[in-house]
Amino acid sequence: MPAPEPLNVARPDSERAELLLWMNEELRAAYGPKPLSPRRDPLHELISTILSQRTNWRDEDAAYQELRALGDWDDIIAAPVEAVAHAIRRSNYPESKAPRIQATLRAIRDSPGGYSLDFLRDLPVGDALKWLTDLPGVGVKTASLVLLFNYARPVFPVDTHVHRINTRVGTIPRMGEQAAHRALLKLLPPDPPLLYELHINLLKHGQQICTWNRPKCPQCILRERCDAHAIYGNNVPSFSEKPGKSKN
Ligand code: SF4
Repeated sequence: MPAPEPLNVARPDSERAELLLWMNEELRAAYGPKPLSPRRDPLHELISTILSQRTNWRDEDAAYQELRALGDWDDIIAAPVEAVAHAIRRSNYPESKAPRIQATLRAIRDSPGGYSLDFLRDLPVGDALKWLTDLPGVGVKTASLVLLFNYARPVFPVDTHVHRINTRVGTIPRMGEQAAHRALLKLLPPDPPLLYELHINLLKHGQQICTWNRPKCPQCILRERCDAHAIYGNNVPSFSEKPGKSKN
C-alpha cells in the first residue's frame, strides 16, 4: 500500500511557499484582484488598528470618529484620559487603549518627523518595524499594516483570519500570531502588491468561509489542499487561539 501523502505542515519550505502562491491565485479568482492602494492616512491607519483590537469595524470606526471629534492630535494628547476613554468607548477595553493611544501620539509628536510618518518609506524595513513596535500600544500587526498599506513595504500583516486559515491549511505549524508574521514572510516573495492582495483576500475568506466556528468547508476553494480538511473532512473543529496579547 502506498504511503499516505504528508500533511502540508510537514513539507519543506519550498512546497509551503508554492502552496501560498496557489492560495493567492485561488483567492484572487474567487474574490477578485486587490490593487495596493492606501485606504486611509498613516496615522489614521495606526490609531484605527489599535482601536480595532477585539472590536468589529463599525465600532472601530465610530470610536475613531468620536476620538477625532475631541480636536486635533495635540488636543487628544492634552485631553483627560477619561475623556479619551469615553470617546473610544465603542472599542473594547477603552480604559487600557486610551492611555496607550495618548502615549503613542505623544511619542510620534516628539519624533523627528512630527505627526508625519513618511520617513518610514525610506528606512530599512527592519528599522521601520522596530521604530513602530517601540511605540506604546503598537505591535507587529499594526506596524506591518501601516508599512504595507501606506508605504508599500514588503511585510505581511497577520490578523486573526490570516493566522487561522494558514494554520488550518498547514502553511505554518500552530504558533502565535506574532511568530506567524516571521514564518509566513519567510515563505512569501518580497512583493508588496502580492502581499497586500493575499492579506485582503484571506481576510474575506476568513469572514465568509473559513470562519472561527464551523468553517464552511464544502464551499471552500482551498479544500483540496487543506490539512484540516484532510484530517477532519467537513467537520473541522472551532479554532482555538492562544490568549490575547497586549499589543496588536
Ligand atoms: S477547507 Fe475548511 S478548514 Fe480548510 S481553509 Fe477551507 S474552510 Fe478552512
